[in-house]
Amino acid sequence: MDYDKVIRRIYNEVTPFLGKGKVADYIPALAEVNPEQLGIVVETLDLKSFRTGDSEIPFSIQSVSKVFTLAMVISHMGEELWQSVGREPSGNPFNSLVQLEHERGIPRNPFINAGALVITDRLISLYPRPKEAILDFVRSLAGTDDIYYDHRIACSEREHADRNMALAYFMKSFGNIHNDVETLIDVYCHQCAIAMSCADLARSFLMFANRGVNPVTGKRVLTISQSKRIGAVMATCGFYDESGDFAYRVGLPGKSGVGGGIAAYMPGKLSVAVWSPGLNSYGNSLAGIEFLERFTTDIRSSIF
Ligand code: GLU
Repeated sequence: MDYDKVIRRIYNEVTPFLGKGKVADYIPALAEVNPEQLGIVVETLDLKSFRTGDSEIPFSIQSVSKVFTLAMVISHMGEELWQSVGREPSGNPFNSLVQLEHERGIPRNPFINAGALVITDRLISLYPRPKEAILDFVRSLAGTDDIYYDHRIACSEREHADRNMALAYFMKSFGNIHNDVETLIDVYCHQCAIAMSCADLARSFLMFANRGVNPVTGKRVLTISQSKRIGAVMATCGFYDESGDFAYRVGLPGKSGVGGGIAAYMPGKLSVAVWSPGLNSYGNSLAGIEFLERFTTDIRSSIF
């Protein structure tokens, strides 16, 4: 398969979508990003990388980070984790408080904010230096030390984190947050503010495509079962309230973030990362989804 040719052709097809989406502005530092950017990287399990557009520019990965923290925590806690967080699509906005009241502080899944906060809370209990541990983990998956926290974005989110604070305190009242909420929000805002390029992101998702083994180091990170389970949660809950439509149109497990990044993969075959900051009404990258739909259609391959 000539991935170079495929991604270049589709790149041209989706450029008319650039500038049509809306950048996230509830985190002020994200509102300053130029929406007319588009980066695309496909990487195969033999570490061959196919790139076009703004593929080397680091951007704020935001909620894509929730997959990394989930992987770190599940590798320690295994199935016990599911007593504190569910694995069903929520059907509610990613930062909703309403459902939590009914479900007594147990978030629907690890990718809505409440669920991600529970995961980060467990991570803080597991690692004495959680921020360093997250960065180390992501660097080891991406095979580069050149990945950092964007402190300006972390601070910007931290200053506007009232709703996430509310979610954390609310869950704490049910006993589902164990650590100090200020510390939790600080770590959470930093994980969301990891800056990575599409090239880094595609490589870091190869571990999932390789069923839990990091192809860069050859080391097993997740058991086959853990890798399968995280993939299942990505396929059902990875795209906010557009998860069903993403499965329908694209058909890959993956995760998006409000920075406009999307990382996805085809088990046993490849990973793909797309970044374009203009978002559709669900908060997913508009051009990113347009690209991915055409990509899986073109290569005639998806998990379905
Ligand atoms: N840091 C963002 C928040 O908590 C993550 C949002 C996202 O990418 O879904 O609001």
